[in-house]
Amino acid sequence: MIVNMSAHATEAEINHVIERVKECGYQAHVIRGVERTIIGAVGKSSDGGGHRSELEALRAAPGVEEIIPIAQPFKLVSRQLRHERTVVDVCGVRFGGTGVVIIAGPCSVESREGFFEAARAVKRAGANMLRGGAYKPRTSPYEFQGLGVEALKILSEARGETGLPVVTEIMGTEDVDSVAEHADMLQVGARNMQNFVLLKRLAKTPRPILLKRSPSATVKEWLMAAEYLLAGGNSNVVLCERGIKTFDNELRNTFDLSAVALARELSHLPVIADPSHGTGRRSLIPIMSRAAIGAGADGLMIEVHPCPERALSDGPQSLDLHGFEELMRELREPARELAGAT
Ligand code: PEP
Ligand code: MN
Repeated sequence: MIVNMSAHATEAEINHVIERVKECGYQAHVIRGVERTIIGAVGKSSDGGGHRSELEALRAAPGVEEIIPIAQPFKLVSRQLRHERTVVDVCGVRFGGTGVVIIAGPCSVESREGFFEAARAVKRAGANMLRGGAYKPRTSPYEFQGLGVEALKILSEARGETGLPVVTEIMGTEDVDSVAEHADMLQVGARNMQNFVLLKRLAKTPRPILLKRSPSATVKEWLMAAEYLLAGGNSNVVLCERGIKTFDNELRNTFDLSAVALARELSHLPVIADPSHGTGRRSLIPIMSRAAIGAGADGLMIEVHPCPERALSDGPQSLDLHGFEELMRELREPARELAGAT
């Protein structure tokens, strides 16, 4: 339920409603807007003591303008609860603001030298953040699994040199503290989107989360996964579309850009897109990057490797350093005009 306080509600009236919401067995999430305060009453308490009718009776409380049910199962993530877009700030890089954020770097951190070469090049080309996997979720146990803690140290050294914040994937609850110590943003990979134990743990970290969509998840399931993070106390969540499984097997995945537009319509959270995993094909990355921006993406995540043919993971979908520089130049060019325009 959304409790809309009137624009003239006093602090005492607001506090009274918050207390009553809790007494009714719900959590109170307070959103203080410029004009008015909104109180989201979500989730019954664990003792099952939620009293919906009592909550509805709060309509009569002083300072309350109206009480509206939240139609979607994702309550805190919903645009209905919070109409203005959320801005997630990662060390000064703002997702969901006016600009498109570019995250770039290799799929995996493979060596100090190689990562620094990529990091310096993407910084020079204009990227806002660095990426690189330390723990890699691989389909085969015989493939490169990532350098682990050694990679985390390389990531934080590269952040020190370039000044760019870093994002890296977290695969298990046991690594949350060490990854959070070295990275500025934690990525929940596609395979872990519905790892609810991990989501609940990440809800308690102070680090912002990049939540990738599972290739088999509906948009609703993706937003429900984000709801776990917000419900547990971490509201710094950025969603990332990275391609889904469909009947087509020409490409690694089907890059679902309508999901970018839909997630932005249904939720106030920033949404970025990953055309590298979304297509699996280097040649399509520039055009699909533009398409993602056209669909409203608040940012892009691009895999870049100094020598893709030697990459230990995801070489075929990685741009080389020159390719990334070109892409950044192209993204600065204005979009095409309509035919017939003078
Ligand atoms: C990655 O970002 O390198 C990665 C493994 O992504 P995803 O979880 O989307 O497959
Ligand atoms: Mn990858």
